[in-house]
Amino acid sequence: MKDKFLLCLFDGLRRDIVRQDTMPNLSAFREGWIDFPNSSSAFPSETRVQVSSFVTGAFPGDAKLDSKNQADFGHGVMANVFFDPNQSIGAPLDTSNLEKMERAEKYYGRIQKSVNLSEIMASSGKEYSVLTTGKIGNAKLLNLNANKFNQKVFSIWGADICSKAVDFEMIVERFGPVPKQDFPNNAVTEYATNLLLDYFLKSGSADLQVMWYNEPDLSFHYRGIGSPESLSSIACLDKCFGRILDWWSTDGRKDGWHLIVASDHAQISVAKQIDVFSELETAGFKVGAGLSEGNDIALKRSYSGQITVRDRDELLVREILQFLQAQPWCGLTFSKLGEDGALFMGDINVLNERSPDVYFTMRTFDGANRFGYPGLCFGDNPDIPIGGGVHGGLHSVELNNLLICAGNKFHRQKVFDTPTGIVDILPSILWGMEIDIPPSVMGRPLKEAFISQGNSPAWCERILSASNGQYSQNMRLGHVEGVNFPYLRGGQRTS
Ligand SMILES: [Zn+2]
Repeated sequence: MKDKFLLCLFDGLRRDIVRQDTMPNLSAFREGWIDFPNSSSAFPSETRVQVSSFVTGAFPGDAKLDSKNQADFGHGVMANVFFDPNQSIGAPLDTSNLEKMERAEKYYGRIQKSVNLSEIMASSGKEYSVLTTGKIGNAKLLNLNANKFNQKVFSIWGADICSKAVDFEMIVERFGPVPKQDFPNNAVTEYATNLLLDYFLKSGSADLQVMWYNEPDLSFHYRGIGSPESLSSIACLDKCFGRILDWWSTDGRKDGWHLIVASDHAQISVAKQIDVFSELETAGFKVGAGLSEGNDIALKRSYSGQITVRDRDELLVREILQFLQAQPWCGLTFSKLGEDGALFMGDINVLNERSPDVYFTMRTFDGANRFGYPGLCFGDNPDIPIGGGVHGGLHSVELNNLLICAGNKFHRQKVFDTPTGIVDILPSILWGMEIDIPPSVMGRPLKEAFISQGNSPAWCERILSASNGQYSQNMRLGHVEGVNFPYLRGGQRTS
């Protein structure tokens, strides 16, 4: 019998909202199998960065500026939307924009620098199949080579976004048109579950199937974490997950299927919106979205911000850091030098030739939102209401993703508190399928979860701190024996 894996991913799901009263199926499943409560996202904790970390087992970068050769690490997708002056497109690369993605691919050669899942599966003679309700960029980054290897990618965004191996028209004829998106997005969640159970798992010959749900992320963002809409969303997801478990206990497990259930990141809540663009402008900086309009600095606006300066001018970087650190809304700051009160971006695995000059997050707090869920922040996301959810930063709550392993090769009813992360999912699946793990993988196979594979590795925590005048910040990292890269455990401005 072949060992197969189903990755069931709930975008944005927080661990603490998975309870007996809210998600009874998932909650019982977590207690019955292997739980990794200290799992964490890569930074920035945005979805398409996590997608790329999942399919490559890598963080966006490592600790070196020039990572052009094989000996270096990192997948190179620095954010959902990021500006790299080297691409010479003048504007940021939106990974959901097909035209820009094409141009970026021409420039970079590879958008995901590290070997990815579709390539690994193809070269091992295994079938890789994706079903996603996420955005266009999500579908693309889950498999950038789908047409080349004739692998299946189904996206709710239509035949053009699906790969050629998927007959979109036939699916619409059989299952009806894809329902309109809504908050909660329950009709789409149910539609995708029907497709998974009645088409992909039945007709398919996949060895690895991905089921990526775009909820509760959407309902958290636009209605709030713990809002009635978000509770309806997770109730629907749980009901759908119950149907997946029914399939698994009657047929799936017998057929060799293992189940990895995860979220890509969690979310915290926006307490106040700040317009960083105009704050910088008011302070006298010449700022734009790119560097083509005669301005000196390119700003990637969001709760998790990035700044690139013209000619990589170090003096200007220093001025910007000084400005940011003097603002009450500013949280953590990272630079390529790790001086002037900023932390070194290499320490959080985000340095390479595509990196901005400054990463910063908006300030976060540990208080709870109106529904009692901890984690608050300043935002710079005009589309998200006050009280809505965001992610992308380094608050310990938003970094803490769900990760559960289940199936015949795994232990039962165990909890491992070792730091783990999104980057460990790929090597663990490869380990379970007895496929060699490529050297570009930065995470580790979670061997302790497998029956008769020994104890969990030793680990320790390291706290980085930096300060400049009144400003100070710290960042907690988890170092695990045998892993060369730190896991992110959370950071905060401390004064
Ligand atoms: Zn999101």
